Amino acid sequence: MDSTVTISQRGEERIRNGHLWIYRSDVTAGSASAGGVVRIVGQRGRFLAKALYSDRSQITLRVLTPRDVPIDGAFWRGRLEQAIRFRDQLKIDATAYRVVHGEGDLIPSFVVDRYGDYLVIQSLSQGTDRLQPQFAEILRERLQPAGILARNDPRVRLLEGLEQRVEVLHGEIPDTVVVREGQVEYDVDLRNGQKTGAFLDQRENRIAAAQYVHGRVLDCFSYAGGFALQLASRASELTALDISEDATTMLARNAARNGLSNVNVRTTNVFDELRALERVGERYDAIVLDPPAFAKTKDAIPKAEAGYKEINLRALKLLRPGGFLITCSCSYHVSESAFAEIILDAAIDARSAVTVVEKRMQSRDHPVVLGMPETYYLKCFILRKLS
Ligand code: SAH
Repeated sequence: MDSTVTISQRGEERIRNGHLWIYRSDVTAGSASAGGVVRIVGQRGRFLAKALYSDRSQITLRVLTPRDVPIDGAFWRGRLEQAIRFRDQLKIDATAYRVVHGEGDLIPSFVVDRYGDYLVIQSLSQGTDRLQPQFAEILRERLQPAGILARNDPRVRLLEGLEQRVEVLHGEIPDTVVVREGQVEYDVDLRNGQKTGAFLDQRENRIAAAQYVHGRVLDCFSYAGGFALQLASRASELTALDISEDATTMLARNAARNGLSNVNVRTTNVFDELRALERVGERYDAIVLDPPAFAKTKDAIPKAEAGYKEINLRALKLLRPGGFLITCSCSYHVSESAFAEIILDAAIDARSAVTVVEKRMQSRDHPVVLGMPETYYLKCFILRKLS
């Protein structure tokens, strides 16, 4: 029998409004073992939902279902199957994509990314950490991967009292895996690459951006070349900037693999470089800004906003009239409307007239949950500078 946890009226309203997290401050009675399944009830004892329990995190409950059903192997098999089928429906033109996106697939705090024949999984709470062997077994049976790697190294695991660990759960994981995205191929280091190896959430934005690009292109915060590789074949020349030498080394190798001889790679700080380029009078026909999350916490928002404004202002100045700015923010603490305002401020300061060509978000294999703003983290605007 699952333990019972009682939540406040406010917590009950959160669930009713589509949120899947209940914070410790809304738990009024009851507890369970770390990572166990619980029944959530309201102040009068009425059943509300089943959830995963954490005895450490501020996010105490992660809702699984509003129905009083057993949370067993069949339940999880069904959830994973739904996630897999949705990706099949998307007809993704790439061999690397997200198969399970936590809350967005009602498998809260669990991630599965596919890289060709390999799977990388992440368990980000006590609940999914406990379920991981069961999930890995279902995935192995259903998808028959050559290897499964658990990239359980994100820092958020510390909030759950879980250790940071990377381990092979099944088969073998080579040092690099070659994946295809549209027309380009690139190497991914699953053990050491950022996130689970690559930024899969930008896949559709990279393909979309390619439609607009021509002439001289600048890719800022390039990492291993996600945008650069997609855009280079449309550009006369492309310059990619990243502060990490590992990233620029991978990028140069990926450019060579795709026979792209018009790509220049520089290991440098984008903030300094944009100023330097402006000083020497460089001009571009398209610029990509895909920085890391500047606001990782609420306290960091003002500084983050200043950072976004600075790079967008510099980029607008470096763009020729008629040029395109592909500008992104992956900080969920900076909402879409806040980001739009920052860009407007930048445009005003740059004395530029700018139109919005596309407002985009994370790729469809990273679904946003309506009623959970936290799950809408990646904003990507494609803008055109008129003058
Ligand atoms: N556009 C990439 C993902 C970018 S991730 C893709 O589509 O795959 C952000 C990158 O910004 C990281 O590679 C990180 O090394 C780099 N970075 C962070 N701060 C930087 C800075 N100040 N200047 C240049 N690069 C920076």
